[in-house]
Amino acid sequence: MQTTEINGFLIDNFNQYNLETGKKQGICPLCSHTRKPKNQKAKCASYDWERGLGTCHNCNTSFQLHTYQRKGASEKEYVRPVDKVEDYNITGDPEQKVVKWFKTRGISAQTLIDLQVGEGPEYMPQTGKTENTIKFNYFMGDQLINVKYRDGRKNFKLYKGAEKVFYNINSIVGYEYCIITEGEMDVLALHEAGIPNAISVPNGATLNSNNLDYLDNCIDYFEDKEKVILAVDSDEAGQALQAELVRRLGAEVCYLASFDDCKDANEYLIKYGKEKLSERITQARPVPLENVTTFKDIEDEVTDFVRNGFKKGYQVGLENFDNIFSTYTGQFITVTGIPSSGKSDFVDQMVVGYNRNYGWKTAFASPENAPTYLHAHKLMRKTWEGMPTSEDIHGDKWNNVSSHVNDNYFFIDMERYTLESVLRKGAELVKR
Ligand SMILES: [Zn+2]
Repeated sequence: MQTTEINGFLIDNFNQYNLETGKKQGICPLCSHTRKPKNQKAKCASYDWERGLGTCHNCNTSFQLHTYQRKGASEKEYVRPVDKVEDYNITGDPEQKVVKWFKTRGISAQTLIDLQVGEGPEYMPQTGKTENTIKFNYFMGDQLINVKYRDGRKNFKLYKGAEKVFYNINSIVGYEYCIITEGEMDVLALHEAGIPNAISVPNGATLNSNNLDYLDNCIDYFEDKEKVILAVDSDEAGQALQAELVRRLGAEVCYLASFDDCKDANEYLIKYGKEKLSERITQARPVPLENVTTFKDIEDEVTDFVRNGFKKGYQVGLENFDNIFSTYTGQFITVTGIPSSGKSDFVDQMVVGYNRNYGWKTAFASPENAPTYLHAHKLMRKTWEGMPTSEDIHGDKWNNVSSHVNDNYFFIDMERYTLESVLRKGAELVKR
């Protein structure tokens, strides 16, 4: 039986390159036809029909075996471009002016064909007239969702009112990782370098705009990604975009690629070539995780420790006891002793001491201290440093001590105490 979906993406065309279905090895749809006649039948590619991906060992590129329908839809209704893509597609004629221009940018005609890049006249508001433009077609599934027009002066516009999505989003289905860039030219550059699963934000990076509606519209495409490599510009706007993408996608899946002395992937391709560009992507480094410490972050504390040894921990304020015992947060302290030797009372004294010295609050889960009012009375006495009498009731000292006890000590009162339920209650109290 044929697979009908991969990672929740419905397959549209099961065999987009007409390869030998079910076979594990075969020709490469990307390079076989360009090879010497005797090599054209060579089985240079392996096909993984389960993942929907093929890999070629000759041209060192991977490719999708299927095409897919769009996954997820935006809630809003959008305008759809009426451009007839077929009429404007660049055919790859090397004499075509636009093909020559792309060649100066390191982009081959084949890449233009693969990505269905078009060329045609379009009114550009920046110049106030119709210009010859490059058309970057934004597909999701087989639907044309948006078009980015670029004229000879590097003016851009998107199709008015059309949905914003990532450029080339179809290309990442089936892959465990993908690359996010800042522009279509970078996507083309990476495709050229044998990395087909690269996408681009539709509107570059702009400062002060965290509106990533294109991410919302494509969010289903990232669910199965183990790695998202961010390859944005190193300028301030690019870094702001990067930070927002990390926040939205999660630091644990994000990796950062940089382009050395170049501002983006396309410039890097022109300067250093395909192999080096591809290496840049393989060498992407994980985003430094928040809440994770490296040695350099705490070197001062380490040197202090080497100089001075352990610092005293927290103490209860009883000199004899403090000389033999101190503690740190995050520790578990066991107090043992024979019955009725004053363990609970001593623990109360410790707690009151920590409260006095450091303001620590305490939650008790202490069934043996029932009834609770007697336990509260003990804590009141220790805070009072004496025994309140009936004359003291509702006097100033009484009011101060009782509100202090009220704000600092909590009595967990349960029918049945289990470790889980007590810890859960403790966690709730910590958030108060
Ligand atoms: Zn190949």
